[in-house]
Amino acid sequence: MVTTHNLGFPRIGAKRELKFALESYWRGESSREALKDVGSHLRKCHWSMQAGLNLVPVGDFAFYDQVLDMSFTLGNLPERVRDFHGDVLDNYFRVARGRSAQDVEAHSACCGGVAAGEMTKWFDTNYHYIVPEFTAATAFKLDASRLLEQLAEAKVQGVKAKPVIIGPVTYLALGKAKDNSDKLALLPCLLPAYVQLLDTLAAHGIDWVQIDEPALVTELDAAWQQAFVTAYATLDTGKVKLLLTTYFGPLEANLPLACKLPVQGLHVDAINAHAEVEQIIAQLPADKVLSLGVINGRNIWKTDLHATLDWLEPIHRSLQNRLWIAPSCSLLHVPVDLDSEQKLDREIQSWLAFALQKLEELQVLATALNKGRVQVQEALVANSAAIEKRRTSPRVHNPAVKAAIAGIDATLGKRVSPYDQRAAKQAALLKLPLYPTTTIGSFPQTAQIRHARSEYKAGRLDAAGYKAAMQGEIARSVREQEALDLDVLVHGEAERNDMVEYFGEQLQGYAFSQFGWVQSYGSRCVKPPILFGDISRPQPMTVEWITYAQSLTKKPMKGMLTGPVTILNWSFVRDDQPRSVSCRQLALAIREEVLDLEKAGVRVIQIDEAALREGLPLRRSQWKEYLDWAVECFRITANGVADETQIHTHMCYSEFNDIIASIADMDADVITIETSRSDMELLDAFDNFKYPNEIGPGVYDIHSPNIPTKEHIMQLMKKAAERIPAERLWVNPDCGLKTRQWSEVGPALNNMVSAAKALRTDA
Ligand code: GLN
Ligand code: ZN
Repeated sequence: MVTTHNLGFPRIGAKRELKFALESYWRGESSREALKDVGSHLRKCHWSMQAGLNLVPVGDFAFYDQVLDMSFTLGNLPERVRDFHGDVLDNYFRVARGRSAQDVEAHSACCGGVAAGEMTKWFDTNYHYIVPEFTAATAFKLDASRLLEQLAEAKVQGVKAKPVIIGPVTYLALGKAKDNSDKLALLPCLLPAYVQLLDTLAAHGIDWVQIDEPALVTELDAAWQQAFVTAYATLDTGKVKLLLTTYFGPLEANLPLACKLPVQGLHVDAINAHAEVEQIIAQLPADKVLSLGVINGRNIWKTDLHATLDWLEPIHRSLQNRLWIAPSCSLLHVPVDLDSEQKLDREIQSWLAFALQKLEELQVLATALNKGRVQVQEALVANSAAIEKRRTSPRVHNPAVKAAIAGIDATLGKRVSPYDQRAAKQAALLKLPLYPTTTIGSFPQTAQIRHARSEYKAGRLDAAGYKAAMQGEIARSVREQEALDLDVLVHGEAERNDMVEYFGEQLQGYAFSQFGWVQSYGSRCVKPPILFGDISRPQPMTVEWITYAQSLTKKPMKGMLTGPVTILNWSFVRDDQPRSVSCRQLALAIREEVLDLEKAGVRVIQIDEAALREGLPLRRSQWKEYLDWAVECFRITANGVADETQIHTHMCYSEFNDIIASIADMDADVITIETSRSDMELLDAFDNFKYPNEIGPGVYDIHSPNIPTKEHIMQLMKKAAERIPAERLWVNPDCGLKTRQWSEVGPALNNMVSAAKALRTDA
């Protein structure tokens, strides 16, 4: 018999119940007990949804983040929160967010707000975890209470519990040594806490423990490989069985290591490491369980069950009871329930599977393996009908788009002249002063804007009324910018709900869910649009708004677009063609928009690539391939314009060192980046590389309500000018201003413009 299990379930709730409960608690509008009740209700409900499995994950639930949970379990809290004498859950939120609602009232005088823990991307997903902090003096002390409480709840419910923990080597790999000490030196003092944890679980009658070590799918040097050997020799106490769990990629050079560690089972991502499975079977000792992640936990597509069974049946015949099956990774990365969707196109819906549907697929596979395909014939027939329909649907396949992709050649991504020649022509046309000022695109999304949009969506406001309302907002932001005396204006993006969704809604090949929420971090969720078919642009998407905005001013109005790589990286994408192909299709569609803007007389066009870095593959050896096609796609999008048209791009992060050559290769005339918090140090990457084009380093931290002073901005720009010649510097905020209030934006931009003017007279 094949065993079925799951690695983790989305905890946010099918209707984002956890999000709303958290935010209400943080606002001080509901009690801690009420929040805890929502937590246990969600766990209960998620366990009963998984009741058909042979083993159900316990401990995958977190109020904020599973890595932060592990830090608490291991007693590894940053020094700054250790003297907090409030509630443990509040202290947990303090590490996550810098403070908790309760701090403000009860602890403001003693141990109130502290710096939030740093957040970073969980491997190559769009989930962000709280980075464990280490120093050479870090000590660990087990606190198994959270896990034991959840196990007790599960026991009452009769759940076949398999606790889920993050393994010691991955835990160290995920963290950051604040004093630059060697993290691996902490392993000997970390392992006793793990041994104690496993012993505790064994004493509570636990049979199997899922120990996640996704670090095994990354490049490990000899010291880290050795850490695995040491760690698992120590954890091999014989009291519980360990399922060593990897996901997100192939094991490659770590494959022999993963196969020989002294554990009782190994889980591999049979989607991303499909090609390795044969080798793993050959190397895995005959007494070990092999768990294959055969359902893709990273996308929303139905599994081809026939194809999966064709592959699995022989494996099952040879492994028998040693074979387990599961989703490839935790289902944290997919929405909960497709059946919640009321408005999705029925045919497209029939191609999809969210978490619950994925678990149903797993069940069908298990029954087919255990009892024969005939036992689930109906489900299999329905599955292959859906798969076949999708494979051949004219809604997915557009010959004209495929022909355009085939026609891409090297000239498409090339500007007419090199940067310095373009810059001279642009300067003659735009006549901008030294230190030109601009903003990144969006202005505050006011309550009126949101109200108008929801009235329009609900049908209570007609298209003409909506257009008039948005034009009113555009006119307002143009007036404000003229009064501020900014040099290059923007229309303010009032009409955009979201920088990806806005374009997706107007492109053919995209679908939108109502409840397809995925946790990004804490209570924050995203609803990635679904890229299901060949992409085309039936008509211009932004031209009318931008030309309206331009009609109101003599100053240059910047056209504002989202780039293909960012649209791709923030969408659920197709699994039937490489990401690079989908990206090229997006590039051709956005290129048409760029050319239409140019035709309409727009002289400055910004193409945001906020998520370019997010798409970097897990292994550095694959970075080049990704960056090559990502840059090519940007160039296809941007570079069809005349020399006189100035192309801007924008990226909101602060690490450029390792990708600077690719950034330069994009060849945008101007790049605006987020720098205000880094004190301009990250410009070093541009300086060292001798980055040739113009740069606007952010001088206004838009994540904070603080208003930067003129002096502060001048000081930042002077630092910038030590690294980049002043003739190539722009003055702008870090990012868009949509989350801020006009009452903050007005004074902040006023200081920014005064600073730029003062710099000009100084120069
Ligand atoms: N143009 C977008 C805005 O200003 C850019 C947002 C982003 O980079 N995340 O809102
Ligand atoms: Zn940004």
